[in-house]
Amino acid sequence: MNGPIEMIYLDNNATTQVAPECVDAILACLRDGWGNPSSKHRLGIESKQCVSEARAQVATLLGATPLEIVFTSGGTESSHTAILGAVALNPDKRHIVTTTVEHPSILLLLRRLEEQGIRVTYLEVDEKGRLDLPTLERAVTQDTALVSLMLANNETGVLFPVEEAAQIAKSRGCLFHTDAVQAAGKAEIDLGRMPVDLLSLSGHKLHASKGVGALFVRKGLKLPPLFPGHQERGRRGGTENVPGIVGMGAASALAVNGLKIHEARIRTLRDRLESEILAHVPFASVNGAGAERIANTSNIRFGNMESEAILDKLDRMNIFASPGAACTASGSEPSHVLTAMGLDRSAALASIRFSLSRYTTEEEVDQVLSALSGIVGRLSAEAA
Ligand code: PLP
Repeated sequence: MNGPIEMIYLDNNATTQVAPECVDAILACLRDGWGNPSSKHRLGIESKQCVSEARAQVATLLGATPLEIVFTSGGTESSHTAILGAVALNPDKRHIVTTTVEHPSILLLLRRLEEQGIRVTYLEVDEKGRLDLPTLERAVTQDTALVSLMLANNETGVLFPVEEAAQIAKSRGCLFHTDAVQAAGKAEIDLGRMPVDLLSLSGHKLHASKGVGALFVRKGLKLPPLFPGHQERGRRGGTENVPGIVGMGAASALAVNGLKIHEARIRTLRDRLESEILAHVPFASVNGAGAERIANTSNIRFGNMESEAILDKLDRMNIFASPGAACTASGSEPSHVLTAMGLDRSAALASIRFSLSRYTTEEEVDQVLSALSGIVGRLSAEAA
């Protein structure tokens, strides 16, 4: 390695770098397009046009129509609107089906709904993080208001068969929501083909800024808003975050452009990262190996070596990745996703999530591999 590494960012499932094209669009909006889209004068009308253009760009990313897109503050708000809206729309149905490996933004809301008398079935995954469709079929009853499944898991990248699952939900007459926060912009999503009713997106996971997201609401579904107000055609009150929305539109347009090429390149880099680690670290294994996974994510278990020790040393070299664990005030808790896949506490705490992006280069992967080989070698020697 020649000199210190400037920065290598392999934590794109936590958040992504705002694309330079989005920064330009956001800055132009902050500088010149700061009108209120509800104002009737020219400045307002121009802002409204910017929001409309962004809505069309997000719709294109999903194979949806612009009127099916509602802008929100992010993935969490989108999913809360979807879940609470589905429950409110079906007051006679008191059951929701989901999985044990959903993002906390969903699981914590469902825990609260359970306290309010809603029954929730948490489907388990197998050791590869996969969902069994017959189990889903058995779980959906006449009383089920909603099935909510994530498209790609944020920790392992494992993909759920959302298209088939949505078909099952539709055939049983219940609504279907998917948290597509980690899939959008990384894999093709075609809502013309997938019979989902509700889909959540987050701007900051696809190279737009934080504090903006979108909810797809299938045409004809009269979902009650979380925040009543006249904006977003009565579906989400509050003055629109126009710069964020414009950035999200620009990011969606960028993602659509060359999505397949970027996906293939990122998958090649991710696969190389994994195969080289497996070749050089005999006790390493890939969590979710063998399952269908989103191209950018690799969750690697380093035997029983504490991931925090490795991450700390990587951090000092300006290489950023994440533990496969949630940090709490009292320290690290093993990841609920990895434990659901059958890993014990020490195996889960020995896992690291590497998440790549369209900006990751081959040279960066080489540098990470070389850094990891030195770190793991030193930690192994210390432990011997
Ligand atoms: N869903 C998934 C799968 C995520 O990974 C995240 C963010 O980590 C969210 C939802 C929440 O999105 P936001 O940060 O926009 O609220």
